Amino acid sequence: MQDWPGILTGGCLCGDIRYELKGPALFVGQCCCRDCQKATGTGHTTIIGVLRPQLSLQGSPRMYSCKGDTGGDVVRHFCERCGGRLYTTGSSIDDVVIIQAGSLDDPNAVTPENVIYTKDAPKWDFFDPALPKFPAMPPMNRD
Ligand SMILES: [Zn+2]
Ligand SMILES: [Zn+2]
Repeated sequence: MQDWPGILTGGCLCGDIRYELKGPALFVGQCCCRDCQKATGTGHTTIIGVLRPQLSLQGSPRMYSCKGDTGGDVVRHFCERCGGRLYTTGSSIDDVVIIQAGSLDDPNAVTPENVIYTKDAPKWDFFDPALPKFPAMPPMNRD
């Protein structure tokens, strides 16, 4: 399980929303699902799964909710002013919050462990060949 010393800090592009993140991570992955592509305009997003109490927030993100591929609600939280994506929550994993790793002040504080939803990955995107790949959801290290 990936952990980091102390607390990681992060926030949106304009700085209206800031957060602190405690370890350890349940997973750190590259997500290639179509929803992540559409929400960010990129080939994939890098995500950090933690339990909800590990995230503390300053500011009020806006939310956009849609249905995930398991039929649950997937809620994407972002800054109203700059549009910066911050994290995602979902009714099928309601004790977990999924942080956008690019919103960290130091994105190198975490290291992707796998690539998920490879079934949706664009042909032009590139991933570390050494990383395990999963066609859909990742395994969660929840012990
Ligand atoms: Zn902002
Ligand atoms: Zn995704």
